[in-house]
Amino acid sequence: MYKKRKIRKQAKRNFILLTLIIFISVVGIKLVDDYLYQQTYEYKLLQINYSLDEIKIIEKELEDKQIDSLLTKDYNPNLTKIIINKYFIYNNLDRYSNYANENKDIDLNKIISLVNVNRDRDFYKEPIKNNYKDEKLMLVNKYYYLDKDYEPENIITTTGTYSYANNSLNEETYNAYQELYDAAKSDGYTILIVSSYRNYEYQEELWNERKALYGTRKADEYAARAGHSEHQTGYALDVADFYDTNDKFGDTKSYLWMKDNAHKYGFILRYPKDKEDITGYSYEPWHYRYVGKETANKIFKENITFDEYYAYYLNKEVN
Ligand SMILES: [Zn+2]
Repeated sequence: MYKKRKIRKQAKRNFILLTLIIFISVVGIKLVDDYLYQQTYEYKLLQINYSLDEIKIIEKELEDKQIDSLLTKDYNPNLTKIIINKYFIYNNLDRYSNYANENKDIDLNKIISLVNVNRDRDFYKEPIKNNYKDEKLMLVNKYYYLDKDYEPENIITTTGTYSYANNSLNEETYNAYQELYDAAKSDGYTILIVSSYRNYEYQEELWNERKALYGTRKADEYAARAGHSEHQTGYALDVADFYDTNDKFGDTKSYLWMKDNAHKYGFILRYPKDKEDITGYSYEPWHYRYVGKETANKIFKENITFDEYYAYYLNKEVN
C-alpha cells in the first residue's frame, strides 16, 4: 500500500516535470523561431511597410548589400516598379525617386532612362572628363567632355571615293565605313562622308558662329560646345546621299538603307528621332558613330541610344 502510493506520487512528479520540459521547449523553440525570423529581410522590410508581394520582388531583384542599404531608408512606393526595369541602376535609386517626385507626369520607365543619362542634371554644368579606356566606346555628350588638347590617335585622311574633300577620321572607323559604303553601293545607294573628325578649335568656331546667329539656346540645340562634340573623337561622321545632297538625308532611301544596315558594319545612328530628351540633341539622321559591330548590334537590338548603353553596360559601378 505504502509502496503503491509512493509510485503514484513519483508518476505525478514525473508528469509535472515532463509537462514543464515540454512547455519550456515549446516556448524556447518559439523564442528562437521569433528571433530567427526577426533577422530575415522579410521581417525587416515589413517593419518599414513593404508588403509581402513587394518583398518577394525586392528579394528577387536586389543583392543583399542593396537590401541592407534599403533598410536604412523610408518606404518607397515606387521601388518595386523601378527595380523590375531592365536598365535600373541601384546607385541611381534616390535620383529616380527625386526626379519622379519633381516630374509626376513622366512615366517611371522614362524616369529611369532619363536619370541614367544624367538628365536630372543641367547640361554642361558639372562636366565629367572622359577617359574611358576603349576609345571606340568613349562617351562624349553634354555631360562628358574631351580636353582641349585631346587628339585621337590613328587619324587618317579619306579619299574622294568615300567622302567629300578635307575629311579625316579614325582608321578603324574608316575601314569599317568602306565596307559599309561598298555594301550600300551594291544595293544601289551612294553614301558619302561629309564631315568627320573635327578638332576642339574648329568646334569652338562652329558653335560660336551659331551662337552669334541664333543665341545660346538654339546654338546648343544644333551644335555641341567645344570639347563636347563627338566629332572630336574621330569615331563620328556625318553622311549625305550622293544624288540628293540637300540636308534632308532623313527623307532619302539611302537613309532607310542606313537604318536597316549601319549596325552590321559597327555604326549606330547617334541622335535618333523620339530620343531627343535622352541624347539632348535634335534628330540627326545623318550623324553616325562607330562603336564596333558587337556594341552596334546590341544597341540596335535593344533600341537604345549610346548614352543609355554607356550608363548601363559600361559605367554602372562607377556611377
Ligand atoms: Zn555630326
